[in-house]
Amino acid sequence: MAKRFSARGISKHRSYTIEEAAQIIGACPQTLRKWENEGLKLLMSRRPHLVNGADLVVFLQAREAKRKRPKLEIGQVRCFGCGVSKKPLGLMADYVPITPSRGRLAALCADCESTCSLFIGQAKLALYANILDIAHRKR
Ligand SMILES: [Zn+2]
Repeated sequence: MAKRFSARGISKHRSYTIEEAAQIIGACPQTLRKWENEGLKLLMSRRPHLVNGADLVVFLQAREAKRKRPKLEIGQVRCFGCGVSKKPLGLMADYVPITPSRGRLAALCADCESTCSLFIGQAKLALYANILDIAHRKR
């Protein structure tokens, strides 16, 4: 998953060199240059190359919003094959404990039959057990 960068510390009312902006948000200058292909406007006509603070803040906020995926409903798992959340094949899942309080729920996707996996705590596991047929496995 892509790393998160915070726009905190970037003023909307000034411009930064690529290096300055990168340092403030904790990224590499290369990363900012790469973001130009993803829509970040860089001022490349003169040296040093600049980025407008307001443009960077908007870009980072949009990037963060895209990152946030809808929350799973109880009983749903996320399919890595289809990339969406859904109830698993046959409403069945295996629970494999990892720690005394948390474990991994593994199931098959009803559409593509690839593996769906979800890290889950005991409290949520009890809710999932109302909807799914959960087999408890040993580690
Ligand atoms: Zn799938």
